[in-house]
Amino acid sequence: MNYNKKTVTDIPVSGKKVLLRCDFNVPQDKETGAITDDKRIVASLPTIRYLLEQKAAVIACSHLGKPKGTYKPELSLAPVARRLSELLGQEVLFARDVVGEDARTKAAALQPGQILLLENLRFEPGEEKNDPEFARALASLAEVYVSDAFGTVHRAHASTAGVAAYLPAVSGFLIQKELEIMGGALADPKRPLVAILGGSKVSSKIGVIDHLLDIADTIVIGGGMAYTFLKARGGSIGTSLLEEDRLDYCREMMEKAGAKGVELLLPVDTLCAGTFSADAQPELVDAMAIPDDRMGMDIGPKTVEKFTAAVRGAGTVIWNGPMGVFEFPAFAGGTRAVAQALADCGAVTIVGGGDSAAAVEQMGFADRMTHISTGGGASLEFLEGKELPGVACLLDK
Ligand code: AMP
Repeated sequence: MNYNKKTVTDIPVSGKKVLLRCDFNVPQDKETGAITDDKRIVASLPTIRYLLEQKAAVIACSHLGKPKGTYKPELSLAPVARRLSELLGQEVLFARDVVGEDARTKAAALQPGQILLLENLRFEPGEEKNDPEFARALASLAEVYVSDAFGTVHRAHASTAGVAAYLPAVSGFLIQKELEIMGGALADPKRPLVAILGGSKVSSKIGVIDHLLDIADTIVIGGGMAYTFLKARGGSIGTSLLEEDRLDYCREMMEKAGAKGVELLLPVDTLCAGTFSADAQPELVDAMAIPDDRMGMDIGPKTVEKFTAAVRGAGTVIWNGPMGVFEFPAFAGGTRAVAQALADCGAVTIVGGGDSAAAVEQMGFADRMTHISTGGGASLEFLEGKELPGVACLLDK
């Protein structure tokens, strides 16, 4: 996978109509429709401001929710246009359709320095099908395509990949940063490269483990997924999370790590509980000898020491998935200690999207990480070394 892609500063945009794919998939209040978190809109501002300063005419587009190819008024992007307008301090025109008469008329009349937001891309059945006719219609509104929605680059949709067949395609600043930092860490990491994996399931991280075994120096496994590894190693794991059908896979991965000289670290002690609840009393036990009626909920202090020592010696740390049930304060300590170790170490630190990103933000360490990836599924597929359609379609540098 080539991560060295042209970006918005590499091509002339001045005076051009630019189709900008944003990620405005914001959470909304179910009753009132009000935007409850505008982080994604705020994150899009640097690319939008750059384009407007360059006197491009910006035609922004995004999906919102899952309307599945039909018009759903509650999933209209109109509230996003209003919020974007407040943040930019300038009018954001809004088209009531995506490639229909209103969009075509407003896009055609759009002047340099103006911005238009199209209606929800997923109101069109051709979007998720990557229908070439729809992609062509979308592309025909503009002269240049800028992709800045990292959260959807793993999807081959019309607005994330299809349009690049008809327009010169480059990244915006958000995707540029993801490619530079995550791509750099995978292609040419500052070593040792330490990968920390956690979360609930081995099965959702198989592709990531496979790929990291080829490139990492150390793989640290915590969270619910660690117990299937511990069982595969002959441990007693009580009622902890277990994926019975992944035991052979875990054995294979441990052998593969040994053969490749990759250090694979597992928990040595565990905070367990009798019930999966916030008020359960934590008990510290040996990770290989969890009592039959207890489940592992977080890593213990010896494990924290072992895992954070690996972080302290790292050149690059990639972290995806919490170390325990961090939603319950009594079992958040392992995740917090790992977050703290990343914040304090001098390494390049990259936090994959999803729960570990949420944990780092919630615990107040966000601004001490080199990079927090903005895409959950996209970050995982990135770490799997998969070709991402929304990146592959961009012009090479
Ligand atoms: P994932 O979505 O696979 O990244 O998993 C994240 C979830 O894993 C979080 O909601 C955590 O509460 C959960 N988790 C982490 N450790 C454990 C554990 N030991 N037992 C059960 N769930 C866990």
